Amino acid sequence: MRIAMISEHASPLAALGGVDAGGQNTHVAELAAALAVEGHDVRVYTRRDSADLPALVTVREGVTVAHVPAGPPEPLPKDDLLPYMKDFGRWLVDEWRSDEWAPSVAHAHFWMSGLAAVTAGRQTGVPVVQTYHALGTVKKRHQGAADTSPARRIGYERMLGKAVDRVVAQCQDEVRELVRMGVPRNRMALIPSGVDSERFSPEGPAAPRDPDRPRILTVGRFVERKGFADVIRALKIVPGAECVIVGGPAAGSLDTDPFASKLRSLAESTKVADRLHLVGAVPANEMPRWYRSADVLATAPWYEPFGLTPLEAMACGVPVVATGVGGLTDTVVDGLTGDLVPPRDPRSLGMALRRVLGDPVRRFAYATAALDRARQCYSWKRAAEQLGALYATVSGLRPATGAVA
Ligand code: UDP
Repeated sequence: MRIAMISEHASPLAALGGVDAGGQNTHVAELAAALAVEGHDVRVYTRRDSADLPALVTVREGVTVAHVPAGPPEPLPKDDLLPYMKDFGRWLVDEWRSDEWAPSVAHAHFWMSGLAAVTAGRQTGVPVVQTYHALGTVKKRHQGAADTSPARRIGYERMLGKAVDRVVAQCQDEVRELVRMGVPRNRMALIPSGVDSERFSPEGPAAPRDPDRPRILTVGRFVERKGFADVIRALKIVPGAECVIVGGPAAGSLDTDPFASKLRSLAESTKVADRLHLVGAVPANEMPRWYRSADVLATAPWYEPFGLTPLEAMACGVPVVATGVGGLTDTVVDGLTGDLVPPRDPRSLGMALRRVLGDPVRRFAYATAALDRARQCYSWKRAAEQLGALYATVSGLRPATGAVA
C-alpha cells in the first residue's frame, strides 16, 4: 500500500529533546521504517520549517519525507500552527490528485494533522486513520490556564473522532478518554507504540558513571508536566544517589535556559545540587548508552499519553519507577517490571526509588521482567502488522475485522 503519514509539527528527521520534538517524532520515524520493511511505500508529510529543506527527502527504501509549504518556512511553536492547516490540507489535495503519488490510506498524527488529512481525504476519497498522541481534554485537566493549546482544540478533536475512518489509541487509558469524548468504540483500535529492541538492548557501551553512586536517570522534553521537579524533590530521600536528566536544549545552551535554571535552583534549595547532572539533548542514537548507565529510570509525569522512554529503558534491562498515569499503567507492571506511584507525590517517588536502589534482588528481578516485557509485547514490527491490517480494512482491501477496545 501507499501510506501517507501526516505529522505536521513532528518530523522524523528532527533532532529530539526540544520542547516540541520527542515521542511523536520517534513514533513516526520508527513506524514508517517498520511499515516499509513490511513492503509498504510510506510518505511522511511534515511542515517545511526552514527555507533550506528540499521538497522531498528519501530516508530509506520505502520511506520519503515531503516538506509541505504551509506557513512561514521557519520553526514555530506547535500551538501556533492551526492557521496553516488549511494550506496544508489544500497542498495534500493537489498532491494526492496528481497521479504522481496517490495514497491508499492516510494516517494523521496529532489533531492538527487530522484536520489537514480529513480535508484532503474528503476531496480525494482517501480514507483517514487518526492517532492523537495527546488529547486536549487531558492537557486542559492537568494544565488548566497554563495550557497554550488553541481554544478550539477539544472541539476539533471530538469532531475528528467522528469524521475519520478509524482512531488508533495507544493505551487503555486513552480508550477510556476517547469513549468519554464520544468517539464510537467500533471505530477504535488499540495499537501501542513499540521499541527497537536491537538498538535498545542491555548489550553495548554505556555512558560513563561513578561506580560508587547509584544512578537515577530521567529523560524528556523540558516541559513542566514531565515532573522533573518531583524527581529532584524525591532525590532528597534517596541518600547517595545521583540524578541525571537527559533532554532539553543542547548541552551548550543549558546555562542560559530558563527551565534548566529553575531545576538547578530547586536542587540548590532542596540541597541536592551536587547530585544533579543536566546532560541536555542527546542524539537518538546515543540514548541506549544513557539508559545502560542507569540503575533505575524515574519517570514522573503528571500525565502521559504513551511514554516511549520507559519502554526504551525496559528494553535496555533497566527497571522503571513511574507515576501511574496514561500509557505508563500499560507498559510498567507494578511490582513486576518496576513500581507505579501517584503523580505529583515526590515522597512516594523517593520511597520507591530508595527501595529499588537498596534491594539488588528486587532490582534484578524487575530488570529481567522489564526486558522480557519490552521484547515480547512492544515491537514496531507488531505495530506495523496491526496497522497494515487496519489500513487494508479501511481502504477496502480486506473485510472489516471488528474493533479492538
Ligand atoms: N529523546 C532523544 N534525545 C533526548 C531526549 C529524548 O532522542 O535528548 C527521545 C527518547 O529516546 C524518546 C523520545 O525522545 O524516543 C521521547 O518520547 P516520550 O514518549 O518519552 O515523550 P514525549 O516527547 O512524547 O512527551
